[in-house]
Amino acid sequence: MAEILYIVIPCYNEEAVLPITSKALKEKIEQLIAGGKISSASRVMFVDDGSKDKTWELIESLHSSDDLFVGIKLSRNRGHQNALLAGLMTAKGRADIVISMDADLQDDVNAIDGFLEKRNEGCEIVYGVRSSRASDTKFKKFTAQGYYKVLEKMGVEITYNHADYRLMSKRALEALSEFKEVNLFLRGLVHLVGFKTGVVEYERSKRAAGESKYPLKKMLSFAFEGITSLSVKPIRFITFLGVLLFGVSIAMLIYFLVTYFLGKTVQGWATIVISIWGIGGLQLLAIGIIGEYIGKIYLETKARPKFIIDKDLEE
Ligand code: UDP
Ligand code: MG
Repeated sequence: MAEILYIVIPCYNEEAVLPITSKALKEKIEQLIAGGKISSASRVMFVDDGSKDKTWELIESLHSSDDLFVGIKLSRNRGHQNALLAGLMTAKGRADIVISMDADLQDDVNAIDGFLEKRNEGCEIVYGVRSSRASDTKFKKFTAQGYYKVLEKMGVEITYNHADYRLMSKRALEALSEFKEVNLFLRGLVHLVGFKTGVVEYERSKRAAGESKYPLKKMLSFAFEGITSLSVKPIRFITFLGVLLFGVSIAMLIYFLVTYFLGKTVQGWATIVISIWGIGGLQLLAIGIIGEYIGKIYLETKARPKFIIDKDLEE
């Protein structure tokens, strides 16, 4: 039996692009149903993230004119990641597989065929990966690449050039729902879920209509969230710095002792310089150690699942 597919789309002030997106998706889904690839109970689910324009009215009218479209409305704007999670968790109870994508058609709908193929091969998660960044500005390309490098250094696993265009099975979503954290960086969390995964490449195009809802400020805070919600390495760096500074003060002490016995010292200078570096180093070290504990508390409060079982032969 063909599986029920839900396509989840977070929308924030997207009245300009929704008519175009809904048309493209309707076409695609009808084609997939006709080909027997997905169940006829498949749906497109719009999540209105507290839009201030006519987005919700549009979703309502789409729903009343066509069963294919369903929608949920958040009580207020909670940001892309939260809106996406709300949609995923709602769709989880109604679908076998869920694909998340943006409202602006930047994610090529024709990649869905590839997603379903991978799903047939037994993948629980399929990542949509953009094959090129030709449609991006130089600045965006450069910052994005640098950011992936930083994440890698911090020990955060993510798929290069993958945003939030992905397929997840009901099982993967159930596992994702075990992650109780409030600071959401979904593309990092999904990696922690595990299971058999696949990758589908697609060409990312320009926004079909309307403007980006991710101004630089939101992008920076999202980038920062990605690091701090998945890594405690920045704290470890402070500890390391403390040890280093303290080490420098010890080296100076030895140097000054040697020069003292050789009789070449300036009176009083040595003690002051050593104290500055020594105390500075010790303070940083202390902050780092306290930070280590706070980091542990931080991870504990997330109450992440310690494991997710993929296969059980007794079942
Ligand atoms: N979005 C959202 N809530 C927000 C901001 C954005 O649901 O507070 C949605 C938006 O409607 C779109 C997706 O997140 O479907 C990605 O946003 P956008 O395309 O503006 O980002 P960009 O592609 O420019 O990075
Ligand atoms: Mg976009």
